[in-house]
Amino acid sequence: MKPFEYIAPRSLEETTALLARAGTDATILAGGTDLLVEMRRPNKMRKRVVVDISRVSELGGMITSDRSVVIRPLMTHARLQHSELLRIAAPLLASASAAIGSPQIRNRGTIGGNIMNAATCADTVPPLIALGATVTLRSAAGTREMPLSSLFLRPYQTIAAPDELLTEIRFPGLTADARSAFIKLGRRNALSISRLSVAAILRIGRDSRIAEARIVPGAAFPTWQRVTAAEALLLGERPSARLFAAAGACVSKEMILQTGRRWSTEYKEPVIAVLVRRALEQCAAPALPEDGK
Ligand SMILES: Cc1cc2nc3c(=O)[nH]c(=O)nc-3n(C[C@H](O)[C@H](O)[C@H](O)COP(=O)(O)OP(=O)(O)OC[C@H]3O[C@@H](n4cnc5c(N)ncnc54)[C@H](O)[C@@H]3O)c2cc1C
Repeated sequence: MKPFEYIAPRSLEETTALLARAGTDATILAGGTDLLVEMRRPNKMRKRVVVDISRVSELGGMITSDRSVVIRPLMTHARLQHSELLRIAAPLLASASAAIGSPQIRNRGTIGGNIMNAATCADTVPPLIALGATVTLRSAAGTREMPLSSLFLRPYQTIAAPDELLTEIRFPGLTADARSAFIKLGRRNALSISRLSVAAILRIGRDSRIAEARIVPGAAFPTWQRVTAAEALLLGERPSARLFAAAGACVSKEMILQTGRRWSTEYKEPVIAVLVRRALEQCAAPALPEDGK
């Protein structure tokens, strides 16, 4: 690891001032579970200053405001996993947090680091995009808010400037009639990053037809997006295994349209279709006919 200067500011104002001064020479450290791995790679880490934000109390915690859930970036996966608020307002995000790494990783790793690292396998991002999350970036010059889906340029790259800090993640909590699911598939059951994942939200109306559908796959596209073509297939229809299989096939087709056929397509093409079907079945479980058809 190359030598670097380590600074641990205590306030948001101090942090943004430091980042403004250091410019492209600085990198932000939260839990360090991604950054330290990166810094140990030979010839990779060239930043002169590491700004450890873990002591900045304004960047921790979670509140509800105007029927929105506001999560600050230092919230760890362990706290999100066990949050009573998320169990009601966004159970799919609690499930995704619970599926990350091991207890040690979940105790250190933060939601802010998961987002800003921008790996396509980041487990909290598909649920947040399905929830319609927005994020706030802050620098000494001011703040800007944007949909989370607009934050990402390509894998491992966001639009944040070197002096900008993620300070807030905000989304409307799910209504009581919405059902959600997060499913992840890795190479093994424990301590495994996602080969593919799916976040899904369904709202079924009083007429037993699907009134709202949101589907966001993870590790399937270069960046995350709702698959609106598959969502449109579901709207106004009654939940059934056949319908959900058709939505899965549609997501699979969209993935290949956007990424082309690659070495992994033979595996991903059928698997993403099955994961989407299972996630939708999980959402609709109480409303599915007994024979599942
Ligand atoms: C063994 C192991 C298993 C893992 N398993 C999983 C898994 O199953 N699923 C998964 O999604 N991830 C997994 N990860 C990756 C990692 O744990 C998560 O991405 C974690 O959430 C990163 O958070 P952190 O606080 O440790 O980030 P850090 O490592 O501190 O930072 C990550 C990046 O984000 C930037 N950053 C952090 N906070 C901010 C901020 N507020 N504003 C601007 N930039 C910021 C940093 O500069 C850095 O570039 C695993 C990692 C390890 C080592």
